[in-house]
Amino acid sequence: HSNILEVKNLVKYYPIKSGVLQRTVGQVKAVDDVSFTIKKGETFGLVGESGCGKTTIGRTILRLTEPTSGKAIMDGMDLFEMQPRNLRKIRPKLQMIFQDPYSSLDPRMPVGEIIGEAVREHSIVPRALYRDYIKKIMKDCGLRSFYIDRYPHEFSGGQRQRICIARALALNPEVIIADEPVSALDVSIQAQIINLMKELQEQRGLTYLFISHDLSVVEHISNSVGVMYLGSLVEKASTKEIFGKPMHPYTKALLSAVPIPNPDKKMKRTILEGDIPSPANPPEGCKFHTRCPNCMEICKSQEPVFKDHGNGHYLACHLYQ
Ligand code: SF4
Repeated sequence: HSNILEVKNLVKYYPIKSGVLQRTVGQVKAVDDVSFTIKKGETFGLVGESGCGKTTIGRTILRLTEPTSGKAIMDGMDLFEMQPRNLRKIRPKLQMIFQDPYSSLDPRMPVGEIIGEAVREHSIVPRALYRDYIKKIMKDCGLRSFYIDRYPHEFSGGQRQRICIARALALNPEVIIADEPVSALDVSIQAQIINLMKELQEQRGLTYLFISHDLSVVEHISNSVGVMYLGSLVEKASTKEIFGKPMHPYTKALLSAVPIPNPDKKMKRTILEGDIPSPANPPEGCKFHTRCPNCMEICKSQEPVFKDHGNGHYLACHLYQ
């Protein structure tokens, strides 16, 4: 498999403004030097607590938010350098699915219109084939094709997320960025949507950037995983490594909070204490040191380097350096 999306040294800072004159008094380091690659047809899971910057990463790749610096290379082209006109051309190839299937569908539009709007705009199929094309996509996403003229309020949450997936899929994307796509759904429905995404991935060779706070969901769908804390990746490895041999204290803490179905895989429970520090004023040294159960003196002053510990298992922690 070749790399389809390469994010290199992505940085996104937001200015903090204050006073009547709205002077810049500081900056929030929402994303601080994040790099990862995704192979074609695979899924990279990005996990972390809310506010860790994972959503910002998705939004900058799509240029919904402008990055401060870095590169996002897709098919050999840097998305961050692209002019709006070229960006529009490449847009069908790079689609997004959002968390909330309720607010991301226009209530005044029938489903066929919702799915078809961009299909028409980008002339994906000839006019005469348009309705059949939409019906086929709906069927592929587990929706009955005779629902084509119904409105969003007539569907359940799970069905609405299927509509959102159908809308993305209708443009024949290569990469889909899914930001918490099942978090708003009942647990029983979550598995259905994840399975649908996996099926579609196999059938169409799709690549996913799957963003979630929920490790058990990420384990189910990802080939490799990146764990984020306060704007930076702290650990990155294959899914097997992350879940089988987690190394970073933060990853371990996150994992110990997940109920383990297999009692042989017992792990000591670490309860994360304290709140997540503000990204406007992150701790010195290792950003996790204020909550880390293994914190040492060096952690308070020196930032650990994010580096490969073998087998592509990347880690930023003084315990291993
Ligand atoms: Fe904990 Fe230190 Fe490792 Fe940071 S560098 S995770 S504080 S042990």
